[in-house]
Amino acid sequence: MASRLKGKTVLITGASSGIGKSCALEFARTQPDDLKLILTARRIDTLKEIATEIAQFAKGVKVHPVKLDVSKPDEINKFVGELPNEFKEVDVLVNNAGLVKGVAQAPNIAPEDIDVMFATNVTGLINMTQAILPTFKTRPDGGRGDIINIGSIAGREPYQGGSIYCATKAAVRSFTDALRRELISTRIRVIEVDPGQVETEFSLVRFNGDQEKAKKVYEGVEPLTPDDIAEVVVFTAGRRENVVIADTLIFPNHQV
Ligand code: NDP
Repeated sequence: MASRLKGKTVLITGASSGIGKSCALEFARTQPDDLKLILTARRIDTLKEIATEIAQFAKGVKVHPVKLDVSKPDEINKFVGELPNEFKEVDVLVNNAGLVKGVAQAPNIAPEDIDVMFATNVTGLINMTQAILPTFKTRPDGGRGDIINIGSIAGREPYQGGSIYCATKAAVRSFTDALRRELISTRIRVIEVDPGQVETEFSLVRFNGDQEKAKKVYEGVEPLTPDDIAEVVVFTAGRRENVVIADTLIFPNHQV
């Protein structure tokens, strides 16, 4: 697997914590000698810390940390336009940035929570895909690339109190499926990885930083770790070109 990622450029959104951060570390671990990582999120200081961490164990990995809010289309265009030459040819885009806000029955969901979830989870993912896809097609190696979208079990199994988040992830699923059909028979792979419950900052964000409420979510269950998801993402990206692991659902054993 490792050799197929050698020399690749991997772009990860939402790389400052949880699954995105684990993906960054896992890509670096599997290809420590020759990999380029573009790490994006709003918390640039955290991204720089991750870059320092990677430099300690993977001296050959080049990391380009960039402050980027995916919910802002102008920022995405500027970011792509300003990529340094050595990071311009993206091979793998991991659309991971996402969030859930609040737990409320549909009539009571705050309009600003609806907006931020759609702007980040759906429009942000679509805009980033639209910005990177043309760069795959014009590559000197004839248009290769992977788009790996992080969806959710929530996009398949909606739950009470999560209608908007579930709707955003169902939208990710539809977009991913349609794009895969549009690009069938090209050398671009369109992949979805749908995690079940993973212990990250996700719940903390959901409850606006309330540690106690966030902790309760994981009481009495054994959630996945972000590394469990990262291993699947890196394995999937590392398959030979003709192998498409199109759709993976990965959840902890208690969550059926
Ligand atoms: P975390 O909260 O730990 O990570 C979310 C990441 O997204 C952070 O790096 C955050 O960075 C980034 N992010 C949030 N909003 C924006 C934005 N507007 N622009 C750029 N980056 C943003 O949660 P997870 O690691 O768990 O979540 C990662 C993905 O996995 C999400 O898409 C989530 O929906 C999905 N998922 C998570 C599950 C879970 O149980 N944890 C289950 C199923 C799916 P920053 O704040 O620095 O911008």
